[in-house]
Amino acid sequence: MEETIKTFDDLVKLIEESGREYDMEMIRKAYELAEVSHAGQKRLSGAPYMSHPIAVACILVELGMDSESVAAGILHDVVEDTSVDLEQIRKLFGQEMANMIDGLTKLKRLPYSSREGQQAENIRKMLITMADDIRVIIIKLADRLHNMRTGNYWKPQKQRDKALENMEVYAPIAHRLGIRAVKEELEDRSLQYLDPIAYKEIEEGLSLRETERTAFIEHTKEQLRERIASVIPNVYLEGRVKSINGIYRKMFIQGKNMDEIYDIYAVRVIVDTVYDCYNVLGIVHDLYQPLPNRFKDYISTPKPNGYQSLHTTVIGREGIPFEIQIRTWEMHHTAEYGIAAHWKYKLGISKGDTLEKRLVWIRHLLENQQDNEDATDLIRDIKSDLAPEEVFVFTPKGAVISLPAGSTVIDFAYAIHSAVGNRMVGARVDKRIVPIDYKVKTGEIVEIITTKEENKGPNRDWLKIVKTSEARNKIRQWFKKEKREENIQEGRAELERELKRSGIEFTEEEMKNFLESIGKKQNCQNEDDVYAAIGYGGIQLWKIMPKIREDYQRARKAAQTQPMPPASEAPSSGKAVNGIVIDGMDNCLVKLSRCCNPLPGDEIIGFITRGFGVSIHKRSCTNVPKDLSSAQEPERWIQAHWAGEVREDFKTTLEIVALDRGGLLADVTQQLFNMRLFIHSLNSRSIKEGKAIISATITVHGKEHLQTIMDKLSSVKGTLSVNRI
Ligand code: MN
Repeated sequence: MEETIKTFDDLVKLIEESGREYDMEMIRKAYELAEVSHAGQKRLSGAPYMSHPIAVACILVELGMDSESVAAGILHDVVEDTSVDLEQIRKLFGQEMANMIDGLTKLKRLPYSSREGQQAENIRKMLITMADDIRVIIIKLADRLHNMRTGNYWKPQKQRDKALENMEVYAPIAHRLGIRAVKEELEDRSLQYLDPIAYKEIEEGLSLRETERTAFIEHTKEQLRERIASVIPNVYLEGRVKSINGIYRKMFIQGKNMDEIYDIYAVRVIVDTVYDCYNVLGIVHDLYQPLPNRFKDYISTPKPNGYQSLHTTVIGREGIPFEIQIRTWEMHHTAEYGIAAHWKYKLGISKGDTLEKRLVWIRHLLENQQDNEDATDLIRDIKSDLAPEEVFVFTPKGAVISLPAGSTVIDFAYAIHSAVGNRMVGARVDKRIVPIDYKVKTGEIVEIITTKEENKGPNRDWLKIVKTSEARNKIRQWFKKEKREENIQEGRAELERELKRSGIEFTEEEMKNFLESIGKKQNCQNEDDVYAAIGYGGIQLWKIMPKIREDYQRARKAAQTQPMPPASEAPSSGKAVNGIVIDGMDNCLVKLSRCCNPLPGDEIIGFITRGFGVSIHKRSCTNVPKDLSSAQEPERWIQAHWAGEVREDFKTTLEIVALDRGGLLADVTQQLFNMRLFIHSLNSRSIKEGKAIISATITVHGKEHLQTIMDKLSSVKGTLSVNRI
């Protein structure tokens, strides 16, 4: 396994021999940049650093990867290890290349130190999920492979660490991508470090040396081809020697001796029809001595996973047993590609299944990713297969936290510890401040900003944002424990709101009975307990309201002597939806338009949209025609107004212009937190003349509340103006 130093000329030669078209101008440009940037750097072996990226590029050519991958392979270490930055890569090679290098750099920065048990599994899933471009993963594999080839220069501890990582993370990925050569070499080289004695034993136990093993297979294939081709058209043969690690696993897991392993050598024969399969079997048994009890017909009796083939073991003329598998192309595709098989079939790849062809489907996949649904689905399949509905993020110290997809920074905080969640005032993701409802993505480093204030506690609105039940329960726990008085108040207000919204008017007597009846079901001692439970979320009104509404209406109906006229005949009452009354329409879907964010008190108008109900705009919104009668479809504009006393929550964006200074954003954020506002997003940027604009999207409760907030913000030091936009 000695490694010879590769030069750019070797790479060029390899490319020429591949017979494929490569963008040599780009590859040379990549080489020139890398060569200059890595100048003077050396590998542990003492070889010039460039020998590594060149070797990686060579592996990529051997794998049949495209020009971009080869160039990215040459450049894969420059951003991390030299002064070249992504911007330069983008200028010289374009956005796509910059994205690939960025992906590779990120993979390199993954903190692996805290790996233990579950971590390896998480990291494997994360690698796959992170790579929007599968080529990044393949380049990473090539990088790994070359580092392993030169691993004899590492200290023993590093050798074992890397070897373990290969076994747990990288080899399984290579396997999943169908790159067997890379998988097996990674495993064999790792085994050498992990169990050197067993490795040596197996190596010595094989009667043939490494070069002899390949020669034996080649020779056997020739013998078979000669005999079969004269009888059957279109025969394809491939052979393999079982990897050392493969033999090791068989010995270790199945407890076999080496001479009990018959498939160390194997030849596969692929033909067009099932009929040909059985013909080939006859020829094989005529040519070689079959071993008893080693014939299996998985064609007439397929394996549970659908696998089909004929298997037999024979003794060659040299006295070495080897396995022969006989199958049709269709069986072959199912066996080799599983879920990918249908896709490959569509591409019409069939005969001559070499390693290069095996990668063709990945390449086509990438080329077609944008405009082909099948391909996108397949990528998704592979990803969700490895990482179903999960995201993996890091703590600043490098521990991996797994969360369900869609989890927010709040979920993350509570996953760390309830004390972290309860004292959270904000979060940074990859060092940038993010809004509190920010959904974390795989690979991000999340840092929770907490306050020392003892009784800060979570915000009730968080209950609506969090994804995990863990976070939800912990938030409820806090309210349950810490805020009885507040819970009672909040619960009473919420119940009143809900009853009103449902059009339920209880008499005092009815109310008492009602509270008693839910109280009983929820183990509450008295009315206050019921209110408190609603307040902290132990009783969820949205769950029980439908039943209450139904009961109430039934009771009312029964009480009425005369039945109500059917609804269709009743004149429209203009009932409020979302606090808005649409003239002449009941119960229609109403939403507030995002272009102008109308607030109660604003003059408004409705627009009947296609399929999404009525959208409400401010009368002054630029999207509303000044003169409605001359609008394109005047009949779609309808009168709307705010229902008198209903007060709902609204989302609005405020723009604060202030003199830029250190701590400005922190002060504004603190003000917003102090008011216990729900913040959807918060951004700040510097503008000219030493000023900064901070825009905050928040939830406010009506116009008065908005005014209070604007006044508070105006009081922040250096503020010049606060406006609603
Ligand atoms: Mn490298």
